[in-house]
Amino acid sequence: MTPEKEAAYKKGLSDALEVGAAILKEGGSALDAVEAAVRSLEDCPLFNAGKGSVFNALGKHEMDASIMDGRSREAGAVATVKNVKNPISLSRAVMEKSEHVFLVGEGADEFAKLNGLEFETDEYFHDEFRYNQWLKIKDTDGFQLDHSVEKKDEKFGTVGAVAMDKDGNIAAATSTGGMTNKKFGRIGDSSIIGSGTFADNRTCAVSCTGSGEFFIRQVVAYDVACLMEFKGLSLQEASDEVIQKRLLEIDGDGGLIAVDAQGNIAMPFNTEGMYRACIKHDTPAEIRIYKD
Ligand code: ASP
Repeated sequence: MTPEKEAAYKKGLSDALEVGAAILKEGGSALDAVEAAVRSLEDCPLFNAGKGSVFNALGKHEMDASIMDGRSREAGAVATVKNVKNPISLSRAVMEKSEHVFLVGEGADEFAKLNGLEFETDEYFHDEFRYNQWLKIKDTDGFQLDHSVEKKDEKFGTVGAVAMDKDGNIAAATSTGGMTNKKFGRIGDSSIIGSGTFADNRTCAVSCTGSGEFFIRQVVAYDVACLMEFKGLSLQEASDEVIQKRLLEIDGDGGLIAVDAQGNIAMPFNTEGMYRACIKHDTPAEIRIYKD
């Protein structure tokens, strides 16, 4: 990581934070804020979502995303969608305009067309750095997290946002290109409600990043909410318990961002770093990559 690269990542985080915070400041909903913040990250080529999505085993991009409204516990999710510019907005359309929660593959693409979602060409999603990442492992059985080339990844590129609005409603959104060289229609945790994304006004809103297989097995996002609801843990205690203990017991690597309905924030991770940022109405923004 060069200082220039670090500055570029921080700028990407700061832009997304500003977009989301501006909506909340004007009295907008947590749901609108998380969608807008994630769209901004999807449009930034540095992160593994939308434009910056990694290559799958066929040299293509297949994206997963989900969104959940803590007020009503309504949710929308899509998986393995192709050429959709902003998969997070497609998840929201699934939530608001269909009778379903989760659409995958061609059906999801078809639904996106019917609902006027924006599409982009393969060239738009082509990134030289990601392409070279894929070339190094394309003829192997390996699949990897974003950023890793020779060694196991220590930071993740999936994007997510959580927010609380002036009415005390909370929401969560997550979007990803998944893992480099993924095959067989592989779907990660990011589009799975309860694993990569969860929101319930009674407890918390959570968005996860990490090796999706472990997050699915541990039902991470819902696990945090359950520890708060049934065991009375605070947001920080519940998030730490899941990321630093339960996930590590099964060798799961990653982290999460979470907010509760009182506006407390937790951003634990068990890796070297996690690109993250947060802002509260009365305090300056915090933008971080590594443990401090
Ligand atoms: N959780 C994502 C997945 O498994 C990867 C990531 O967080 O970078 O698809």
